[in-house]
Amino acid sequence: MMLQTQRSENLFQQAQNYIPGGVNSPVRAFKAVGGNPLFIKSAEGAYVYDEDDNQYIELINSWGPMILGHRNAKVESALQEALAHSFSFGAPTSREIDIAKLIVEMVPSIEKVRMVNSGTEAAMSALRLARGFTSRTKLIKFEGCYHGHGDSFLIAAGSGALTMGEPNSPGVTKGTAQDTLLASFNDLDSIDRLIVSNPDDIAAIMVEPVAGNMGCVLPKEGFLEGLQERCKKHDILLIFDEVMTGFRLAPGGAQELYGVTPDMSALGKIIGGGLPVGAYGGKQEVMDYVSPSGPVYQAGTLSGNPVAMAAGLAMLKQLKNNLQVYSQLKRTTADIVEGFKENMRKLNVSYTINHVGSMFSLFFTEHPVYDFQSASASDTKLFGAYFQEMLKRGIYLAPSQFEALFISTAIDDSMVETIVRANYESLKAIH
Ligand SMILES: *Cc1c(COP(=O)(O)O)cnc(C)c1O
Repeated sequence: MMLQTQRSENLFQQAQNYIPGGVNSPVRAFKAVGGNPLFIKSAEGAYVYDEDDNQYIELINSWGPMILGHRNAKVESALQEALAHSFSFGAPTSREIDIAKLIVEMVPSIEKVRMVNSGTEAAMSALRLARGFTSRTKLIKFEGCYHGHGDSFLIAAGSGALTMGEPNSPGVTKGTAQDTLLASFNDLDSIDRLIVSNPDDIAAIMVEPVAGNMGCVLPKEGFLEGLQERCKKHDILLIFDEVMTGFRLAPGGAQELYGVTPDMSALGKIIGGGLPVGAYGGKQEVMDYVSPSGPVYQAGTLSGNPVAMAAGLAMLKQLKNNLQVYSQLKRTTADIVEGFKENMRKLNVSYTINHVGSMFSLFFTEHPVYDFQSASASDTKLFGAYFQEMLKRGIYLAPSQFEALFISTAIDDSMVETIVRANYESLKAIH
């Protein structure tokens, strides 16, 4: 069984002449799993097709947005309808009110919302606003959480979880890194120590309420509540980065699922229905601190773009109050996870699977994964081999151990069987 990927390989050679590394976002280059990236030609429902016409069931969903499968009919017709009125005005449109209203109705923490063009922009802008609003400088983030590529967020862990941030990308200055403090996910003591050693200096704690960027890592009971308590007590703003979990774990995101309401939220991915959209929102008092109603500057030539808003609006309308979608996603995911566990029992191997709603990760470690350290114990070489075996069997996983997989409503029972069978054969092949 060999995949024919000649055209993808040719395209990758060409791409590298014109685009750094041949890709416009690093993880797409397959560096973490070996081999060359596939160039995708089209997609429909749960299937993607590469340039060599191979078909795959995909568990990436464009990293989230395709929660209803590719080429969702309502999003597609909303796009067509919008296109006929030109593509951008740089002036207010009524659709921006419609989507803002919908977001306010859906997301518990949001009373007012500003649209931007990516999750990165949403997180960056939310942080600037938190700093402006509190007149404080420092951010606490968690090791292994990703908030886009803004300078303040590209801070790696020191040896302990509590060291002062060191930039993990050249180009991020020491000055910026100093203002980012690192805590351990699921470890409230690490937060307490930072609060004690930086009195009245912390503007915000930003967290992925369910981490998805070190693989899928769930909050332990009381963790999110504990963050909220500490923020209230010390006048720190709690920001949930729900770029991944927003509209995915529930219509109102992880904050609805776990019943913890932050001060602000960053959104992205699903919110644009596949087009480049992000948003940040929160309490009215905080959001009114943004320009032009307040002093904190934030702007965007293409923000609220009419075509993108049409796609996002059509997507969110289908998710609002749609319990059926979320129960289907949950069941499909549970079936896949149960199938994988059964496979592992048969093969006498025991790896860790974390899952919630329509997010899951299979970690190649036998130990529980609850933070960055425990996630890092995974055998990434073995994951790479597993990834390639799954690909050969027509299952396209996210090309890194440290990504969550996403389920869409386009995955039906027979696809679940195919995925579970491929998992069995792939696990067998690498042992
Ligand atoms: C994807 C992601 C981002 C960044 O969003 P982009 O649209 O890629 O800039 C930020 N935070 C989280 C939690 C994400 O998953």
